[in-house]
Amino acid sequence: MLTLMVTTLGLAHAQGLPSCFATGTEPAADGEADAPTSLDDTTLQAAAAKVLPLVEKHAGRVFTTPPKVTLAEGQAFRDVVAEENRLIYDRIFAASPEEVRHRLAEETAWGAERGVLGKYGVFTDTLYMSEGPLRMAASTLPGDRMDDVLLVILAHELTHALQDQHIPMDALLDDVDDQDALWAASGSWEGFATWVEQQVAHELGLDDVFWGMTKLQGWGEEGLQEPMAFQTWAVYGQGRAFVEHHQAKGTEHLWTVLAHPPHRTWMLFEPERYTADPPPFPVDFTPALTGSEHKLTSKKPWASLITTVGDVELRGEAILGHTEDELDEVMAHLVHAQKLESVLPDRSVEARVMLFDDTTWPRRYLDLLRAQAKAEADRKGDAYDVPIELSYVDFPLENITVDDSTLRTTRIPIGGGRHLEARAAWVVQGRMVLVVRAERFRPGLRLGWAIEHLLTGLEGIELPAAVP
Ligand SMILES: [Zn+2]
Repeated sequence: MLTLMVTTLGLAHAQGLPSCFATGTEPAADGEADAPTSLDDTTLQAAAAKVLPLVEKHAGRVFTTPPKVTLAEGQAFRDVVAEENRLIYDRIFAASPEEVRHRLAEETAWGAERGVLGKYGVFTDTLYMSEGPLRMAASTLPGDRMDDVLLVILAHELTHALQDQHIPMDALLDDVDDQDALWAASGSWEGFATWVEQQVAHELGLDDVFWGMTKLQGWGEEGLQEPMAFQTWAVYGQGRAFVEHHQAKGTEHLWTVLAHPPHRTWMLFEPERYTADPPPFPVDFTPALTGSEHKLTSKKPWASLITTVGDVELRGEAILGHTEDELDEVMAHLVHAQKLESVLPDRSVEARVMLFDDTTWPRRYLDLLRAQAKAEADRKGDAYDVPIELSYVDFPLENITVDDSTLRTTRIPIGGGRHLEARAAWVVQGRMVLVVRAERFRPGLRLGWAIEHLLTGLEGIELPAAVP
């Protein structure tokens, strides 16, 4: 699921409910209050009965039992979302204490009720349809299309239910190791639900509704439309393309792929290279990354995740930084990339390690980082209509000698002479680039401590050989 929890948490990579249709934006609260409440249970059940056989036809499987369909309501719906969040966060936020993971799961469940059009509850085997968001979505199309939007979204959610009956979703989630793997696997089930949704919409003469719904997610027939929606497009849009590729090889092949979802996001972009068993990573930076957040602020209940930095993340950054043309070349020389990302309510940090196959590429990657920082400052400057200060200075480290060390500072004026600040240390050491970023607080000397913590940890990790 990709929804408002991104902005609530400030953690752009934490979301990932296995089975829902969410837009990238929250419906306006005032519009919601005025919305008519005419969606009754009889209408809902009739719509589900109409769509169900079409879902079976296009998905190529039949329901063992028709799933329950109900209107999403209040606490019961939030409980469903919170329970699934806990399952996901226990895996993705494994680097955080249990109480932090559970708090996050509860927090992100609030808001789901307003940002999610429909959702299939993995633990309740029930479809929840949310009238306010559905009406908001319908209002973006000409005329009164509420009934049509309901049919199309039901097709999507029923596909999740059908898949879950044949391939239990909780077992699939058990195999997901990190955020990149979650995005990749989500691309298979969201892509499948989106592909079936498209076929059902087409059969019902509702192509315009299907593309109207993807537009709300920031993508369309021509691909990505809204650069900020890159991750949503990667999971739903590229996921749809991934499923289309495998569906063309036959229904049996597709269901085999669905039972063994991709675990690396590059497979969403290159579906012909999909494999159920990708080679293991050549190195694991987890021991070095672990604990970096505590060097930046001590004794705080950080919510932390450690993940592979894969194609979705790197391509998304390149799109926003207008560096797509250079990215492929740099990525071809990337051996492995991993990061730790942590948030507190008032601040966030990231520590990233990128290993290249020779010493040329770290500096090329720094060029991309500079271009991305400039583009981000320009975009925020336009959005807030204020000048954003972006500066670079040398960043000497006290106890360790490195090849290159730069401190980037971004300052956004927020009135009264005050600024929102972000700092990032970029360090080149041999074939590696280390990035430590601190947002909305001044880490001071602690930024250097975090870099030293990383470098010390990396000394104990054997790197795969360089290209001769
Ligand atoms: Zn979905």
